[in-house]
Amino acid sequence: MLAEENAQKAAWMPPARLTVQEWAERNLSLSSRSSSSPGRYSTALTPYVREPLNKTGELGVKSVTLCWAAQTSKTTTMLAALAYRIACKPTPALWAMPSEMLARSFSRDRLQPLIDDCAALTAEKPTDPDRFQTLSMSMAKMNLDLVGAGSASALASRSCGLVVADEIDKFPEESKREAGALRLVELRTRNFPQGMVLKTSTPTLDTGAIWQEWLLGDQRHYLVACPACNHQQKLEWEAVRWDQEARLEEGWDFRKVAATTHLICGACAGRIEEHQRTILLRSGKWVATNHDAPRGVHSYHLNALYSPWVSWGELAVDFLREKESPGGLRSFINSTLAQPWIPSAATIKSGEVESVVKASPDYALGMCPVEDPAVLIMSVDVQQTELWWVVRALDKSGSSYLIDYGSAIGWESIRSIYLQSYPTPADGKVFCSFGIVDSGYAARSAAGVYDFVAGWPRSWAAYKGRTVSQGMRQPVVFQEIMSREKLIPLYQGDDDLWKERLYLQSIQKREAQWYLPRDIRRDYITQLTGERLVERKGPRGALGLEWRTVGANHLGDCEKMWLIAASEWQRMNLPEYSEPEIPSLPVSDAID
Ligand SMILES: [Zn+2]
Repeated sequence: MLAEENAQKAAWMPPARLTVQEWAERNLSLSSRSSSSPGRYSTALTPYVREPLNKTGELGVKSVTLCWAAQTSKTTTMLAALAYRIACKPTPALWAMPSEMLARSFSRDRLQPLIDDCAALTAEKPTDPDRFQTLSMSMAKMNLDLVGAGSASALASRSCGLVVADEIDKFPEESKREAGALRLVELRTRNFPQGMVLKTSTPTLDTGAIWQEWLLGDQRHYLVACPACNHQQKLEWEAVRWDQEARLEEGWDFRKVAATTHLICGACAGRIEEHQRTILLRSGKWVATNHDAPRGVHSYHLNALYSPWVSWGELAVDFLREKESPGGLRSFINSTLAQPWIPSAATIKSGEVESVVKASPDYALGMCPVEDPAVLIMSVDVQQTELWWVVRALDKSGSSYLIDYGSAIGWESIRSIYLQSYPTPADGKVFCSFGIVDSGYAARSAAGVYDFVAGWPRSWAAYKGRTVSQGMRQPVVFQEIMSREKLIPLYQGDDDLWKERLYLQSIQKREAQWYLPRDIRRDYITQLTGERLVERKGPRGALGLEWRTVGANHLGDCEKMWLIAASEWQRMNLPEYSEPEIPSLPVSDAID
């Protein structure tokens, strides 16, 4: 009996030369219960799945990311990869989905029928039904667990050699206290020398997991050859056309749109027709565009123009129907184009900062364009290795002018910059007389911040940013705290509100008289565009807005703190500009 079983198994053993794709096409069939194209598994209509599928069986591959449109068979591809592992290259595996409910229905409706319909997989199935459950299967040579990404404990348990993370943009995100679900599942492969993580999703925001994973990888695009001129190109939405005759007085004749939709070749401008798609796809090959990616980290992008299950005409009609509503356009961009949605109204673009420069009076960096400013204020953002600073003048009408900015090492440099003078148009000299410094970076450098602030008893204050979710209910709260037997003035501000004043009101809408010098440098503009207001899914799916940092934004933080300091200065009706006081206490250089 045992010998017979072994002989049977041997018959299913793959000849060493079979790729994952070839093995899958010989062994798998898709059930009509779960697939829109039931029957023997085949990649004939979807040749683009071959390379990423085969990568999942290669040595040295650490991660395969599919940032693909809806209806491009990304989950089926991952399923085929898992099936191959079970039959041919066993390793403990974990399949993670956004929720346990989805994991259960995926197991019942897709995974189990696949196992039951494939002799090579059935042979691996345990005979004891207790060992073959919806979310936990003890196959002959490997264990397979299915989990919902909401359960941190399930995600973080045993280590495994293969993790499939499906629809990762719907996984719970990283919170302040714990790592995100994706990080937790990825950690599980760390102790396996051949550990591999497969990730798929349609994208949501560009800060979302799949888009970030796509950027980290080698960014492969599927290039196809134009049937007329042979030019290799991506199928892109920009190349889609339909007859203008389909336009009605109001709206479109959708039947005409669908019937005339085609693509234009980027090289010869010839028409590429829908019926040529199968030939196009067969001519295709994946080309990597990010040569800086770590070895073995592969990422693939694919939009719905490649999908054999939706026609270009249907996509064009969808686009025309959906584009007027923000939600509709967003869903089209995410699910059809597989592109992230960037909420345009809230992303600060470099052009917007440049418009502020154009709208500003003509003056140069390092000078104060107003003769007798109300006050010059310095603000400092504390980072682990350096201090970023901004000096800005406030005039008596409430307009403000950036005078200078930069980064410095150590408090002694900040002290000398603070004491520096700036020339005015009539050869006057002006000095800073108020300063604010961020103390929120880390407790261990807060000591350095407090020592510095304590050295200037009347002119410097510390700042700590908080958000409404952290209990902040007012724009600014002032208090005095004790540090090393000295009173430290401390402002706590509603960070989101002040970012809105800076980025939306001062820069984007230019509602404030907030000015920049003509010769402002690129590094400043880059840092000021490092923040964007994005939609965030809150508890129970409610959408809210939150600021997200993309890249360094220390100068943005300085400008935000400056607004707080200026508003407090005006509110307290501080005395008008006077010569700076020189601190009597030595300042510590304790930043680490
Ligand atoms: Zn062409």
